[in-house]
Amino acid sequence: MALDRRSLILGAGASLGAALASPVRAEGERWIWTRNGAGEEVAVAYRAGQDYDSIALGRLRHLMRDMHAGAEGPLPPLLIDILSVLQEQWGYSRPLVVRSGYRTPMTNAAIEGAAPASLHLRGLAADVTVPGMPVGNLGLAAWTLSRRLGFMGIGLYPGFVHIDIGPMRAWTRFGPG
Ligand SMILES: [Zn+2]
Repeated sequence: MALDRRSLILGAGASLGAALASPVRAEGERWIWTRNGAGEEVAVAYRAGQDYDSIALGRLRHLMRDMHAGAEGPLPPLLIDILSVLQEQWGYSRPLVVRSGYRTPMTNAAIEGAAPASLHLRGLAADVTVPGMPVGNLGLAAWTLSRRLGFMGIGLYPGFVHIDIGPMRAWTRFGPG
């Protein structure tokens, strides 16, 4: 299943990327440029073909850790693939800012409105923004990718977009309250 999803994602990335100017990079490499709430940045080629770079994934896992608890969680490469394919659509010209990645149960419980069984607890979700990009645009890009892939959860919030690699769902938390 995971391999099937990866093939789908690579296909989506190739077709989306073909329409856009891409930075110079080696054949088959995938990049991501991320930043967390503390301002730490990782810009790295994390994948070449089907091979993931474990050191790069380790740096990303650290970046997306639970900042409050100081704890690293699991980080499925599939989540990084999704974020990378999204970022590729604007040519890796701006970082993806991860406001919340992995969460311990204690941190999750302290967040108002967080789902008790949030996919953040399993490292399957990221709340992201892109500097200078309205969340509606980011949400639409994620939703379009989700329709193409047949999975992903996307939540539109004031100030960020929740993205996860669970089943296909979409919701908004705009409006009063
Ligand atoms: Zn979230």
